[in-house]
Amino acid sequence: MQIRILGAHMTEIASAKLPGLLIDGVLALDAGSLCSSLPLEAQRQIKAIFLTHHHYDHVRDLPTLAMNLANHTSVEIYCIQPTSEVLSTHLFDGGMYPNFLKWPDHRPAIRFTIIKPYQLISVASYSVVAIPVAHVVPTVGFQVSSAGGKSVFYTGDTSAGLDVCWEHVHPDLLVTEITMPQRLEDWARKTGHLAPGLLKAELLQLRKLNGYIPRTVLVHMNPSYQSEVEREVATIAEELGADISLGYEGLTIDL
Ligand SMILES: [Zn+2]
Ligand SMILES: [Zn+2]
Repeated sequence: MQIRILGAHMTEIASAKLPGLLIDGVLALDAGSLCSSLPLEAQRQIKAIFLTHHHYDHVRDLPTLAMNLANHTSVEIYCIQPTSEVLSTHLFDGGMYPNFLKWPDHRPAIRFTIIKPYQLISVASYSVVAIPVAHVVPTVGFQVSSAGGKSVFYTGDTSAGLDVCWEHVHPDLLVTEITMPQRLEDWARKTGHLAPGLLKAELLQLRKLNGYIPRTVLVHMNPSYQSEVEREVATIAEELGADISLGYEGLTIDL
């Protein structure tokens, strides 16, 4: 299973793209950078998109992806009910761009499949489970397991409070977020994100519950704070004796 990080940031500048992972070229987790990162043919190879939540940075490329698929193919979007409700009423309502849930008439470019937390979903040769995480709107992380028995857990946006979540995952690779530097921990809590101290506590809890800390790659950085966060994460990695690093656009990891 190959995991490719398309976007590792929570906003976009020339050197930073919005959140999104691509697994073996066919399965996407979040849709912030599907179009800005992939050539046309690669976009049409995607079989399913799993959305963690409805925030704009995680869904930004869905309308343009749909335009690129229209009259050629279509894609299934898996998400929880609150996510589909917001997208249907704000992004796919036909107000600013075509309503790709209904267009093209003969085969709309996208379809929603509503999933429930902890429900096992089989897509192609993968098993996917949605696990609720702590954010300011309803959000789920996804554990994706390959037929070969390897798995990645992507939290999407999350803050502290992952105890229950950790009981349901046993990943070979953890992809989670780091949005703020340590001095903004209060702001991170308020906005449902992680700062280095919060991340460290969550990883300690993961090790206590599951006996190990998997390789951990961090995304959702704010470019304004990146160098500060990078230094603080290096300290945490040393303190925990764990493989923890910042992800970046184009990073691929083979499991
Ligand atoms: Zn976000
Ligand atoms: Zn969010």
